Amino acid sequence: MHLEGSCHCGKVRFSLEAHSPVPFMHCHCSICRKTAGSGGYAINLGGEAASLKVRGRKYVRIYHAVLRETGKRATRSPAGRHFCGECGSALWLWDPRWPELVHPHASAIDTPLPTPPEVVEAALEFAPAWVDVPKGRGHVHHALWPAESLEEWHQRHRVWSP
Ligand SMILES: [Zn+2]
Ligand SMILES: [Zn+2]
Repeated sequence: MHLEGSCHCGKVRFSLEAHSPVPFMHCHCSICRKTAGSGGYAINLGGEAASLKVRGRKYVRIYHAVLRETGKRATRSPAGRHFCGECGSALWLWDPRWPELVHPHASAIDTPLPTPPEVVEAALEFAPAWVDVPKGRGHVHHALWPAESLEEWHQRHRVWSP
């Protein structure tokens, strides 16, 4: 599926081909909440890194989260969280461990996205008490993250876009 995206101020515009375009995964981890999710979570989609085209790249800045876990040394995440340096919109994530993939934020996509048949509420262990996590029919809860990849979830629900 062809996706077009942009930041709020419009200095950065991008497009890509996405085989996993359904916005089904709400990530409640603290990085997603603080960098891209004032409602409590962020949503990443799965696309092909080679197809990513960017206008206004000079405005794009990249954040590498530092992971601090008690009893372990702080480590810098290899994942690059790309955002607009002018307006702060979260744009996409690219990780050199999976260089062929790029994960745009659903919030930055202007193309109408498919409605998810099921929503996964992930990383709930990190959700603060004030977040009203959707529950009931159509919502699957995970304390951390499901073992299934974005692509596997799309294939199981027959919504994978080849
Ligand atoms: Zn901007
Ligand atoms: Zn997250």
